[in-house]
Amino acid sequence: MPTSGTVQERLDKVLPSIRSAAALVDEQAAFPVEQVQALADSGLLGLILPTDIGGMGGGPSELVEALMGVAGACGTTSMVYLMHLAATAVTAAAPPGDDGDALLADLATGAQLGTLAFSEKGSRSHFWAPVSKAERTGSGSVTLGADKSWVTSANYADVYISSAMAPEGEGPTEANLYAVKRTSPGVVVQGAFDGIGLRGNDSAPVRLDVELTDGDRLGDEAGGFGLMMQVVLPWFSLGNSAVSLGLARSALQAAIDHVSGARLEHLDSSLADLPTIRAYLAKAWADLTAHEAMLRETARRVANPDDGTVLAVLSTKAGCNEAALRVTDTAMRVAGGAGFSKHLGIERFARDARAGFVMAPTSDALFDFAGRALCGMDLF
Ligand SMILES: Cc1cc2nc3c(=O)[nH]c(=O)nc-3n(C[C@H](O)[C@H](O)[C@H](O)COP(=O)(O)OP(=O)(O)OC[C@H]3O[C@@H](n4cnc5c(N)ncnc54)[C@H](O)[C@@H]3O)c2cc1C
Repeated sequence: MPTSGTVQERLDKVLPSIRSAAALVDEQAAFPVEQVQALADSGLLGLILPTDIGGMGGGPSELVEALMGVAGACGTTSMVYLMHLAATAVTAAAPPGDDGDALLADLATGAQLGTLAFSEKGSRSHFWAPVSKAERTGSGSVTLGADKSWVTSANYADVYISSAMAPEGEGPTEANLYAVKRTSPGVVVQGAFDGIGLRGNDSAPVRLDVELTDGDRLGDEAGGFGLMMQVVLPWFSLGNSAVSLGLARSALQAAIDHVSGARLEHLDSSLADLPTIRAYLAKAWADLTAHEAMLRETARRVANPDDGTVLAVLSTKAGCNEAALRVTDTAMRVAGGAGFSKHLGIERFARDARAGFVMAPTSDALFDFAGRALCGMDLF
């Protein structure tokens, strides 16, 4: 049974074991089965689901705090957790007609692990634009054929929330989202993940050739684009930003600890006695702290949306992803050879933090979108 307590109290219980396994998860590129189970046992997989179906009833601010905490302990586990939470957000917003309540209850307890299968070979990081199409095979039934390029937890998630153009759709903005069981006939994971960071997250390409019904669809016919923009984009962007900053905060702290202790015996001083090192740290701290404040403010705006919320979301993900690259780079630099070596874990945080920028929408795309929003232009 899930434990009780605040988000922080539950995190305090699970993070020590997640942190202590992180180096091995990275070294072995091992999917964090026990860590995900610990999150399930603590109730944290149901973080943002309503309490009446067994969730914790948390909102955007709780999501941000939880993901910063988990990422600071283990990047891989935080990515698996992020994709599950993103899947729960969109499923709760528009539960599938068949067994939607049962699916939500399972996602809340962790009886089922969720993920998103949006990115496709054909539209790359433009996740909102599936080129695959669901074909109608009869009244109420469709087949979905799609090459999904990156599916986190590909071999471990029980349900993939998958996108495709709607059967009668004339373009990607007329898309559907479907809950696809991983064990459905026609789901084939194609190859293993081998990336520089988040090495245990099992983000693999997946071929989908599955028979579905309209009861597997989330929301209205052709309503998938709206769900991706109104639900997935804000929740995923907040969570992805939190992962970036959690990784950066741990890298910076490890660097501070190192330079405070590393001695220059011939000078009877430490690395922290060097003004250059201290200035690097101070600039990184200011950069990181400013982006943490921005992220927390954007989480509040997603909970209480106004006309500026979309712009805030777009620029927050881009800004936090880029800040994480700068901060982890600084951590590597000030730690010198100890940063390059694996024993401090700084290089792992730096490698893991490379993912935020490339995860869709990429920072480059987001800066363009944010610029469009600033200039009063349509995003698409
Ligand atoms: C660890 C990891 C886990 C992932 N997990 C999932 C998952 O669970 N589910 C899922 O659906 N996807 C997932 N993805 C995919 C991710 O969201 C992106 O779709 C993918 O990383 C994009 O890679 P790409 O090579 O297709 O990028 P490309 O689209 O080929 O981008 C290449 C370059 O072009 C730039 N570019 C592209 N479009 C624009 C634009 N409009 N304006 C300016 N520049 C642009 C990019 O910024 C980038 O520099 C994951 C990715 C990673 C790395």
